[in-house]
Amino acid sequence: SQDLYAVYGASGCGRGVMPLARQQLRQAGVVPERLVFVDDGAGLPPLLNGQRVLSYAQFLAEPARQRHAVLAIAASTIREQLAQRCAQDGVQPWTVQAANVVTMDAVELGAGAILSPFVTLTSNIRIGRHFHANLYSYVEHDCVIGDFVTFAPGVMCNGNIVVEDHAYIGTGAVIKQGQPGKPLVIGRGAVVGMGAVVTKSVPAGATVVGNPARVLVKG
Ligand code: UDP
Repeated sequence: SQDLYAVYGASGCGRGVMPLARQQLRQAGVVPERLVFVDDGAGLPPLLNGQRVLSYAQFLAEPARQRHAVLAIAASTIREQLAQRCAQDGVQPWTVQAANVVTMDAVELGAGAILSPFVTLTSNIRIGRHFHANLYSYVEHDCVIGDFVTFAPGVMCNGNIVVEDHAYIGTGAVIKQGQPGKPLVIGRGAVVGMGAVVTKSVPAGATVVGNPARVLVKG
């Protein structure tokens, strides 16, 4: 039997990722029947935007040489839980990216990423597991991005920035560039509000908003 591919999550995020997954598989010569939504929620239709919707148990029960899943759920802690579950069951993390993503030199992209249309990753960048970069976001030179990091649409992440695990960056946020050897750091699990202009490091767990970004909720 052939490989089976899943977009895990059939809500907003998943429905945005499915067309990218479909196109990616078409280019790889995989028939669209081998691509499904997987979702643990109740009351989902059997077919969504032309693709079958399976429970996780059904996904595991379906004959397949190898199973792959991209975790298309914005909440990073859920992504981490599901990554663990998938690893236990031998489901491979799957990276899905739009055809027009631009990736420059020496980009190390961890497993299970989602790169939406118009994302740009410039040069000498390291990115951890299960990164989400939504529409039009960019990551500039010499950035280090942790695991389970989420960029909403239009995030401008300039050079020499460190974004730690589970940070969430809201739509249209601008993060000021750091310096070589002295990066601007977005701490673990921090939340940057939409449209924020981040001019200095953000402590772990804090929520910052505004221009210049100020702490709204301490970590
Ligand atoms: N979900 C799931 N397993 C989980 C947690 C969530 O399948 O352990 C599904 C949930 O049923 C829903 C989707 O993931 O369909 C999350 O959708 P939501 O609208 O909350 O977020 P988004 O699509 O924006 O990430």
